[in-house]
Amino acid sequence: MTYDYTNVFARILKGEISAEKVYEDEHVLAFHDIGKLTPVHVLVIPKGAYISIDDFSERASDAELAAYIRAVGAVARKLGVAGTGYRVVTNCGADANQEVLHFHSHIFGGRKLGGVRPPH
Ligand code: AMP
Repeated sequence: MTYDYTNVFARILKGEISAEKVYEDEHVLAFHDIGKLTPVHVLVIPKGAYISIDDFSERASDAELAAYIRAVGAVARKLGVAGTGYRVVTNCGADANQEVLHFHSHIFGGRKLGGVRPPH
């Protein structure tokens, strides 16, 4: 599979589509999910062209990898959920219903999230 430079997150990175940004650094951008499922629902994406966490884990530099995980924590602290707790979810590929083929993690928080159970 090749990276599609017209995917929605690539277009956000190019400034073609607006996003409500909450964090940005050299390697990472975070913005509110347009289809908010919890009081805090933010997406964290690398600025590089990676399709999935599988792709990112294989090809990203150590600097990109470190920046990404540090950004997740920075966003959680900035939005006030580090103390109460939050969930980080990354869908990877078809079986996980990954809709946007630019690697991203969801940060869910702001209310009790319950346990994690795979669907039947
Ligand atoms: P996933 O199923 O993990 O690929 O999730 C993709 C997420 O991207 C969904 O939660 C969508 O609501 C979100 N999304 C799609 N388009 C946009 C957009 N333009 N701005 C913010 N979030 C978006």
